[in-house]
Amino acid sequence: MDDTTDDSDAEMDANTNRETDADEFTAENADTDAAAPARVDPADAFAALGNSIRVDILRAFLEHQQAAATPVVQFSTLRRAVGLRDSGQFRYHLEQLRGAFVEKCDGGYRLTYAGSAVLTAIVAGTYTDTDTLGPTPLDSACTFCEAAVSATYRDGVLTVSCGNEHPLFVWALPPNAAAGASIEHLIELATTLAFQSYELVVDGTCSECYSSIAPGFESTGDGTDDAAGRSIRFTAACDACSAAWSVPVGFVLLTHPEIERLYHRQGRPLRTQYWWELEPVTSAVELESSETDPPRVRLSVDIGDTTVRATLDETGSVAELEFATD
Ligand SMILES: [Zn+2]
Ligand SMILES: [Zn+2]
Repeated sequence: MDDTTDDSDAEMDANTNRETDADEFTAENADTDAAAPARVDPADAFAALGNSIRVDILRAFLEHQQAAATPVVQFSTLRRAVGLRDSGQFRYHLEQLRGAFVEKCDGGYRLTYAGSAVLTAIVAGTYTDTDTLGPTPLDSACTFCEAAVSATYRDGVLTVSCGNEHPLFVWALPPNAAAGASIEHLIELATTLAFQSYELVVDGTCSECYSSIAPGFESTGDGTDDAAGRSIRFTAACDACSAAWSVPVGFVLLTHPEIERLYHRQGRPLRTQYWWELEPVTSAVELESSETDPPRVRLSVDIGDTTVRATLDETGSVAELEFATD
C-alpha cells in the first residue's frame, strides 16, 4: 500500500506525508549515523521486513555479493538493483532495515549478521513456502511396536513415525531442501544435519545459536532400561534460543568418530542408515548410579562382529570406549 499511487484523497495524503517523513529521516541521518542502535527488539526487526521493497533490498545485497568480491554495496547500486526511481522513497525503506539488518560503513552499506541470517532464511523459503511430501512407506519397522513406518514432510518438518504414531525421527528442514527432492533424500539430509547438531550439543554448544549449554541424560524408567533401550535419553536445552534435544542415549555413541569408522568399515556408512534402527539406539543400556558420584550410563553393544563397551559420563560424553572382536 505504501508504494502504490491511489487516486483517493486519503491515499494521496498518506503518500504526501510519507514523502515528508522520508525527507526528515534523511535530514536526521547525520545524527543517527553516529549512534546506531545497539539492540533492536525482535518484533520491531521483523516488522521492518513486512514490505516487499525491503525484502528486495536484502536480495540486492545477495546479488551484489555473488557478482562482486565485497560485501559493501553503494546506495546507488542498491537503488538500481531494486529498480526504484524515487531516491527519497528508496532511502526511507533502506533506513527501516538499518540497525537490525543493514549497517552503514565506509563506501556504502552492508548486511549485519542478522541481515545475512534472515536473507539465508528468505532464500531457503523458511518464512514463505509450504511443501508437503508423503506419507511415504519406508523399508523399516517401528522399534517400539514393529508396525510399518512412513515418512512425511510438512510445514518444514520431516517426521518418521509408525501407524501407532510412535515418533522415530523428527527434524526441521527449510522448504528449499524439499523442492524436487525425494523423501529418502530428505531423510539422508536430516540424518546428516542431526549428526552435526548432536556433535556440537554433546560438546556443550548449541548448534542453533552457539551458546554454551549443559547436556545430560534423563531416565524415564526405574533405572533399569526397557528391552529396546530407550527409557534413558540424552537431553539438552538452550536457554538463549529455546532449542531442545532429546534422543535415546545410545545415539550419542553414533556421534563418536571411532563408532562412525566402525560402521564405515562394515560397509554401513552411518549417514545412509536409518539411525533409529541401529544397534546403539536399540540395545539395552544400564544406568550406573551411586550415592556419591554423578550417575553414568553403560552400554554393551554388538555391531557386526565387534562388541563395543562404552561408558557415558553425566554430561553424556563418551568417557570410556572398548572394542572386542570375536
Ligand atoms: Zn510404533
Ligand atoms: Zn541456542
